Amino acid sequence: MKKTAPVNKIIPFSNVDGPGNRTSIFFQGCSLECLFCHNPETIRLCRHCGACVPVCPAHALRESGGRVVWNPSACVQCDACLKACPHLASPRVREMTAEEVFAEIRRTAPYIDGITVSGGECSLRHAFLQELFPMVHSLGKTCLMDSNGSLDYRQFPALLSECDGVMLDIKAVDLQWCRTLLGNDGRMPLANLDFLLQAGRLQEVRTVIFPGFPEENGRTVRYVAERIGDRCDYKIIRYRPFGVRPDGIRLLGDECTAQEDAEAYAALARSLGASRARVI
Ligand code: SF4
Ligand code: SF4
Repeated sequence: MKKTAPVNKIIPFSNVDGPGNRTSIFFQGCSLECLFCHNPETIRLCRHCGACVPVCPAHALRESGGRVVWNPSACVQCDACLKACPHLASPRVREMTAEEVFAEIRRTAPYIDGITVSGGECSLRHAFLQELFPMVHSLGKTCLMDSNGSLDYRQFPALLSECDGVMLDIKAVDLQWCRTLLGNDGRMPLANLDFLLQAGRLQEVRTVIFPGFPEENGRTVRYVAERIGDRCDYKIIRYRPFGVRPDGIRLLGDECTAQEDAEAYAALARSLGASRARVI
């Protein structure tokens, strides 16, 4: 039987998921439960509890054999099911083989520089990606991973040899702050930061700046900047409360990080040698 992976969505053309024009594939399911996640409906796999079925105004959801089945052609993308789900999941997920995903990429191939796989957490689908990436390379296109760094990349040399670069989140460096923010001690992304740099596979690092947490922000930015220098891009991202679930808002607030505050952290990073740091 062919391997499949749960695909939340495929965006045919994106210019915000890596360099150039890219097709972005978002997998369902994550290894972290970050309090500031903007897409919390991608965190877990559907448990088929049925709670979302009655709220669908388009009758695009039905129960069959103990499973909730989604009819994409009836769906009006109103997101009522996502709001009704108590499990940080979505019923709008397709189980796809690498060949099926590749068939969609072939359609956009003449117009893109490559693909970016994201999530959820794309590295949970490492076996699937090892099938997909060579297919994409056969078209002369690049393959980037947008990753939270929770996979031990040292254990997957075959995956890395097929991957053109990892866009790595370093969300925090203080272990206690990591536990609060991510539900995880955050050691693995730090190990991956060093490993991917040495392996020449670090495309960029991203750090979110939170309002009201200057010590935590500063520690993270300093740690990353001193390691990466000018060897990769460093994207400083403003915290934005849109889509964040209530426990995240309670901790992090309902205000965006001010642009000038984010710029100050980018300047700090540049002053420490990360010459490619900028706010996005
Ligand atoms: S987004 Fe969800 S609730 Fe809305 S039409 Fe589609 S399946 Fe139904
Ligand atoms: S998407 Fe959520 S509410 Fe709907 S069946 Fe799955 S787990 Fe239940």
